[in-house]
Amino acid sequence: MLIRSPEQDIQRILFTEEEIAARVAEIGKELSARFAGQKPLMLCVLRGAAFFFTDLCRKMDCMMDMDFISASSYFDGTKSSGTVRLMKDSSIDMTGRHVVIVEDIIDTGLTLSYLKKLFAVREPLSITTVTFLDKQTGEPNRENVDYCGFLIPDEFVVGYGLDYADYYRNLPYIGVLKEECYL
Ligand code: 5GP
Repeated sequence: MLIRSPEQDIQRILFTEEEIAARVAEIGKELSARFAGQKPLMLCVLRGAAFFFTDLCRKMDCMMDMDFISASSYFDGTKSSGTVRLMKDSSIDMTGRHVVIVEDIIDTGLTLSYLKKLFAVREPLSITTVTFLDKQTGEPNRENVDYCGFLIPDEFVVGYGLDYADYYRNLPYIGVLKEECYL
């Protein structure tokens, strides 16, 4: 059986590989300045932020710890379930640390707000939030994001780590998924 290419399911490309690399380098520079002389604890929210996280960390010129956590408000669908679950916590002590949460995309803002509250009680020195994409949905409970790669329209996107039903993560760009692929 021949399996179709993920490219065929993309309606249009929002950000190319080159545009992504340029923007990630800019954010890396800003974070390097922000944490100069510090040793932040970089937290990747799996699995969507994996590519963004590894690219971003390599553009940061400071000592750092890295850890991987997993939270989800989506369960194979294209709409938020309204509740967040922490599937994998960090094993690193956050007390007195500059914690940087790196997310793939903000939609309702629920996941980020949940993680910030969860980690705030562990008495870190600071919590900084970084998201690769911010979806312009006008949600009232949107959490304040400190650093953002790109603002995007309210459409379902995949690629550069973001999935639909675990597919499309390996596309090197951000694209809008054709509606017939999830309707
Ligand atoms: P929130 O809690 O902000 O509503 O949702 C954040 C999570 O929903 C993200 O970490 C991501 O897993 C998922 N999500 C939201 N919008 C999209 C989208 O357009 N595409 C994909 N692939 N995931 C999304």
